[in-house]
Amino acid sequence: MTAQTTQTSFLLCSTCACGVSNDDWSALDYHHDPEDADRILASITATMELIGWLSHVGQQDPGYYDCALCGDTHCGTAEEYTTDPTVNNPGIVLMSDNKTVRSYTNVGCYPLVYLDDQDNVVCPSCVQTDYVDNLNELDRPIASAHINYGDTYCDQCSQPIESA
Ligand SMILES: [Zn+2]
Ligand SMILES: [Zn+2]
Repeated sequence: MTAQTTQTSFLLCSTCACGVSNDDWSALDYHHDPEDADRILASITATMELIGWLSHVGQQDPGYYDCALCGDTHCGTAEEYTTDPTVNNPGIVLMSDNKTVRSYTNVGCYPLVYLDDQDNVVCPSCVQTDYVDNLNELDRPIASAHINYGDTYCDQCSQPIESA
């Protein structure tokens, strides 16, 4: 199976879902002998690099599915993951390449500031680093984007944000 670059939704088995979300692949050692577990993990890691960063969306209805990472066919409840950061962060505005966070409005070119769901200020470059390039599951989701009119500082990197 070759991963399509246009594909953003992936179904994972519970073992791979646990590995992706918790960075814990010890279940592979439990189900396979050590050599096989190493080989499978190497293959999974290569596939993950190809796909990009995955974040959890929810669960699919039970049925048969092929796990996008280990490739095994499973019967049961698949965990659905996405590489689209806007699925879990509705406030993120991306450029047309779908992976660069917008720093300025499309029309008028006004500087943008992002707010998470607790109204913490996050600058576009922190959104890029923490939510798109490296998903940190502990981060609060980005809820909205606004034109920045005042003296605003990023709550993550403490840098001033450009004002309109
Ligand atoms: Zn799997
Ligand atoms: Zn910042």
